[in-house]
Amino acid sequence: MAGLPDTAAGVRWDLSDLFAAPDDPKIAALLTSSQERAVAFASAYRGKIGALEGPTPEIVLRALQDLEGLNEQLQRGGAYAALLYAADTSRPEHRDLREKVELALTEIGNTVLFFDLEWVAVPDAAATRIMEDPQLATYCHFLQQARRLRPHILSEPEERLLNERDNTGSRAFGRLFTELLSSLTFPLERDGEAKALTLSELLALSHEPDRALRRRAHETLYNVLADKGLVLTFVYDTLVQDHLTMDRLRRFPDPMAARHLSNEIDPAAVERMLAVTEANYGIAQRYFRVKAQLLDLPRLAVYDQYAPVGRELPSCNFADAQRIVLEAFREFSPEFAAAAQQFFDKRWIDAEVRPGKQDGAFCSSPAPSLHPYVLTNYTGNLRDVMTVAHELGHGVHGCLARAQTYFNYDTPLTTAETASVFGEYLVFDRLLTGEADPEVQLALLCGKIEDACATVFRQTVLTRFEQAAFRERGSGRFTSEALARLWLEANQRYYGDAVEMTEAYRGGWSYIPHFIHSRFYCYSYVFGELLVLSLYRRYKEEGAAFVPKYLALLTAGGSAAPEDLLKPLGVDLQDPKFWQQGFDEIERLVAQVETLASQIGRRSTRPRATD
Ligand SMILES: [Zn+2]
Repeated sequence: MAGLPDTAAGVRWDLSDLFAAPDDPKIAALLTSSQERAVAFASAYRGKIGALEGPTPEIVLRALQDLEGLNEQLQRGGAYAALLYAADTSRPEHRDLREKVELALTEIGNTVLFFDLEWVAVPDAAATRIMEDPQLATYCHFLQQARRLRPHILSEPEERLLNERDNTGSRAFGRLFTELLSSLTFPLERDGEAKALTLSELLALSHEPDRALRRRAHETLYNVLADKGLVLTFVYDTLVQDHLTMDRLRRFPDPMAARHLSNEIDPAAVERMLAVTEANYGIAQRYFRVKAQLLDLPRLAVYDQYAPVGRELPSCNFADAQRIVLEAFREFSPEFAAAAQQFFDKRWIDAEVRPGKQDGAFCSSPAPSLHPYVLTNYTGNLRDVMTVAHELGHGVHGCLARAQTYFNYDTPLTTAETASVFGEYLVFDRLLTGEADPEVQLALLCGKIEDACATVFRQTVLTRFEQAAFRERGSGRFTSEALARLWLEANQRYYGDAVEMTEAYRGGWSYIPHFIHSRFYCYSYVFGELLVLSLYRRYKEEGAAFVPKYLALLTAGGSAAPEDLLKPLGVDLQDPKFWQQGFDEIERLVAQVETLASQIGRRSTRPRATD
């Protein structure tokens, strides 16, 4: 076992159905023909969509179909370049190809950009007539969504100017943040040896069993960040101010409005969700207390949150992971499992760990005419099995939604995790019910609860911090102290007296990439997880009757707004009870931990046979 850390050796995806090699002449031919198609598209439709009397439905339909065809074709090149690069980032020919394809994509994007702008400029009455035309029924949602930006788009020259200036403006500050963080090293002594760790190596230490080591890692993190406090504060301050300026110019009523629009979600539903989450902070605090008891501590400190509890499952080779995941999926639905099975049979998954391969895991679903691809770095522990389940869930979603056309294929952020997190729960439940050892059950449960806390509660804390920061920025430039105060206030409500916040933790806001690159992104995680928890609970209650409705949801892809797609499943996003169901599910898991903890606590008063 120790000699074979990589239990997925040889599990590589097969990209040959896209292209033969990075120098395959078909790639250059595809890019050239796409450029020609884009130019032909522009000469056929420029001025026609924005025609004074409004375009005819026939013209809009033809234009949309042409544009989808062009995108489908381009995605083949884009997907190949991106996947090849992810599989081995160190090869210069992979980097070159990716750059070449990205350049072509931008150029083609610019050539056809006029379509969106002309469509958005069509007066309301004419636009409604088009969207209500039966010929355009499939595209109604897409056309509507594009028009929702109407009040916020500037003129074409203004948009182009902003786009170019942003490279040395807001985007430059984003790059400064990324480059600064990746340049940092964190000095840490371990086993008498001084080491310089990267940020991700340091953060991984929060899962270490040794408490003193966790505390040292925590303090080191914030000491190094505090040294860069001036730059980190300046960057965040500038970006918040930049957003406020752009919101004013684009006539957005508040700092979250732009995000709500692209998430296709009603602001009131989001606020209700955040309020219900805050009302349930007590569940997390209950968990922190029982975890303190399991770790034999009077109270958890922030650096104890991810300390290991119980005993991990024995390591699991990739073939077993495949079996476990497919069995759990099959029990839910043979169709769900059959879609996942293809990833193994047809080599759509790349799971082995090897030098040069991109870190982490993802699923890419480029277009309905292509199938999805999954990448993971499988090392054989329990988390990796869950990751395979997660990414295959995305993969199944991407397969089922191939029934849609290109513009109706992708979901917004809010529903993007509908199948992935669901798949994880299926596997989690199967592992838990099949496990007899209470110590392993405990590890499984705690892992799941901590994931849910990180996704639901912590992301709500982050969102509340961001809201407070945008409110406060109006009254002048930020100081590090002001941001620390807002950060601690938002966290205090969550941790209550169940978790001790250290002095160092004041800098917790300063390295979160979402604040820099994609403001108000975090609530989508809350939405996605709670949605799945509620759907999962519904599945438990309704059994087989739930399955076809759920599969229909996945098959619908992004063809309508989430609210409309979820209605047939009895989901009402405006109803606080709907969000509460997700918390009932988390609470059920916490209660199981409490029961196990009291059993194990009783047992541990006697000498333990296994130790
Ligand atoms: Zn995901």
